[in-house]
Amino acid sequence: MRVLVIEDETKVGCFIKRALEEESYAVDLCEDGAKGFEMALATNYDLLVVDLMLPSMSGMDILRAVRRERIQTPVLILTAQSQIDQRVKGLDAGADDYLTKPFAIDELLARVRALLRRGVTESFGILQVDDLVLNLATREVTRSGQRIDLTLKEYALLEYLMRHTRRVLTRPMISEHVWNQDFDTFTNVIDVYVNYLRNKIDRGRTKKLIHTIRGSGYMLKAD
Ligand code: CA
Repeated sequence: MRVLVIEDETKVGCFIKRALEEESYAVDLCEDGAKGFEMALATNYDLLVVDLMLPSMSGMDILRAVRRERIQTPVLILTAQSQIDQRVKGLDAGADDYLTKPFAIDELLARVRALLRRGVTESFGILQVDDLVLNLATREVTRSGQRIDLTLKEYALLEYLMRHTRRVLTRPMISEHVWNQDFDTFTNVIDVYVNYLRNKIDRGRTKKLIHTIRGSGYMLKAD
């Protein structure tokens, strides 16, 4: 899942970025409001974390402009204690949640998880394809009940595949949601990671779950 953080306080922004990356998210950080808005339009992010007070364009203006563009990406607003009255405005303008600074990083991570769990809540945050199970809350992956240890990137890739089963996922789609803006699209990194995943998930098993769609990309499905 790829997150855009728009926050002009470098220390806070870097802290959030690092914490999210340790949870396997791909993160782009932007310190300028107008530039952040452009990034939100250019990339299909899974979540936006937006500070209210920003240079060149306020968080509230970004939120309104994003919703005007019919972008439904969940938005988590960061507010200072003194801006609490802005919360209601923010929620009215289409924010999905807000967090008051200073906040505990665990709370931010919990809210991010909750926002990204939307749509899979009916299964209690469990993604399952055949005997492959991924728990979004604990980030534990099992196949036939056996625990599978994954690196952060392998996990992020598998989560993306499992959220979009039975669909052809092209390399540009995968890179857009699993890697951040530093990703070099001219490498074969995606194929390398898919192979790592195959080794851990499909190797030695009769039923393969990760399928190569020749000329297009990959698909996760049970048959
Ligand atoms: Ca600020």
